[in-house]
Amino acid sequence: MKLDVSDALSHPGQEYRFSGTQAIADQEISGDRVRLDDCETEGVFMADEDGNIAVRGKLRTVAHARCANCLAEAQSEIENEFDEVFQRNGDPEDDEIFAYEGHEVSLDKLVMSYAVMALPIRFLCREDCPGFEYRDPDAEPSEPGIQFPFAGLRQLLDNNEEV
Ligand SMILES: [Zn+2]
Repeated sequence: MKLDVSDALSHPGQEYRFSGTQAIADQEISGDRVRLDDCETEGVFMADEDGNIAVRGKLRTVAHARCANCLAEAQSEIENEFDEVFQRNGDPEDDEIFAYEGHEVSLDKLVMSYAVMALPIRFLCREDCPGFEYRDPDAEPSEPGIQFPFAGLRQLLDNNEEV
């Protein structure tokens, strides 16, 4: 998602609104894959006399991962607020700052950083998920098409016992 800051650079101190959605790549968080829906983002931006662009606003999305207890599909609503300054002609390789050049500010790195920052430490399919230890391993899946996640592993173990 990109902001055209041409007008803002001509009118330092004046706020401009923006809103849009941005796709975020899947994230690998401590070995678990987290998928994020397109992120809804809105806020305002403003140039200062030196051409740096202050951007503040909020984002919202839904993150999907596996339940930490039972490995079922779990999701979590993600919200975060940001307030950053993009330095004109700053070093784009510097992870400590946000930078831009020309007349376009890319929000990709900012939105991804703030979405990932707001991810829960662990996902749960529901608050009182009992986890594996209370689950009857011989129970049939309640819905057709849902596989027992360790079925493959169990088969492997069974085969080994026969050897
Ligand atoms: Zn669970």
